[in-house]
Amino acid sequence: MAKKKEIVVQKFGGTSVANAEKIKRAAQRAINEFDQDRQVVMVASARGKQTDELIRDALEVNPNPPKREMDQLLSTGEQQTVSLVAMAIEAAGHKAISFTGSQIRMVTDSVHTKARIKSIDTKRLKKVLDEGNIVIVAGFQGIDENEDITTLGRGGSDSAVALAAALKADTCDIYTDVDGIYTADPRIFKDAVRLEQISYDEVLEMASLGAGVMHGRSIEFGKKYNVVIHVRSSMSDKKGTLITHEVPQMEGILVSGATIEKNLAKVALIGVDNKPGNAAKVFAHLTGAKVSVNDIIQTEVSKQKANISFTVSKNDFADAKKAVEEIKTKVGCEGVFYREDIAEVSIIGVGMRTHYGVANMMFSTLAKEKINIDSITTSEIRISCIVDKDQGDKALVAVCKTFELDKPVDKRSYVK
Ligand code: ADP
Ligand code: ASP
Ligand code: MG
Repeated sequence: MAKKKEIVVQKFGGTSVANAEKIKRAAQRAINEFDQDRQVVMVASARGKQTDELIRDALEVNPNPPKREMDQLLSTGEQQTVSLVAMAIEAAGHKAISFTGSQIRMVTDSVHTKARIKSIDTKRLKKVLDEGNIVIVAGFQGIDENEDITTLGRGGSDSAVALAAALKADTCDIYTDVDGIYTADPRIFKDAVRLEQISYDEVLEMASLGAGVMHGRSIEFGKKYNVVIHVRSSMSDKKGTLITHEVPQMEGILVSGATIEKNLAKVALIGVDNKPGNAAKVFAHLTGAKVSVNDIIQTEVSKQKANISFTVSKNDFADAKKAVEEIKTKVGCEGVFYREDIAEVSIIGVGMRTHYGVANMMFSTLAKEKINIDSITTSEIRISCIVDKDQGDKALVAVCKTFELDKPVDKRSYVK
């Protein structure tokens, strides 16, 4: 029997397919792999800022568009790219075929605009690969059990990693507009340094706290199915950052990265009756409205009353508000407070577990900059502060400097 060929999955983000020249360049990368006797599956995003433009179009005709229709619309961006890439590959003399998510039976749940993948059928993909095609799959989209098109949330084309897992590919190359994962977003903190390697857990934490470079759910697939993810630049051949299980840990690294999340809103229910079952009522109602809730803080303020606050992504804010307005009187709530002008700045690092004083270093940094902290949440490996949105970037830069995120780890003064 012929030896099974190695399968390579390559994902190209929006800027990496923004125009004809970049599409040809992406096509050539696939051809280079194919010419080395590998089977190649490309996953492509919508070109440039097209998804943003489609969202703008939708809001012009309906300020609160039905989510099912939103998915119908947004999925067209990726559909255009994949056929263009297939045409570019054909023009370069190779066989290529493109598919939408539904054509390869990328089955998801029915939570429109943030669906989760349930299964991928690789039968058709394997057949066309064996026939000598380069295959191009539209990222970011799937189909639910009612045959309705779904999308996976912003940045969801990174679900190429799930496809890599389903195809048992060893690695998944993520081609993007940065040459790897940095200690912080290099667009905001110019002196951030690139990481050679980072663990799934740390990237997951960074992604959930606003580092837009990778989509969190996609990292979960990589972790579960051992897909090495290589985040790299589509403009050069330089090695980027490897996301793996094993990262040599250096003693004393307090903080490996910092993030900022601006796509956030805060909801606070003030003076809720302090009795069993009320928190459950509030969050059951939000779950029913398909709102994903982050960072819940509940505090007893008297024997009779408690305050409950939480954050949600801006995309869920309208649904969260509606759900809270419906439930508030049922839990004796005295008032609701909403804020949209916030940013959450976080530091992340497994090394924080065993060190004292990290929180204090972060709070003192913000104090020195005269930045007020709205609220604080912590876990073993992260500390997050909500600040005024217009001070967010300044807060991130100050925190990066305090933790010397502009230096490679072995050059940081606090690393023993
Ligand atoms: P693509 O369209 O290729 O998926 P994205 O815009 O989703 O690209 O992700 C790349 C961007 O992520 C970069 O341009 C960068 O500004 C941003 N980013 C945020 N945090 C980081 C980080 N820690 N390291 C690298 N890039 C980051
Ligand atoms: N086009 C989608 C977005 O802009 C998905 C992606 O690019 O990953 O969010
Ligand atoms: Mg992305």
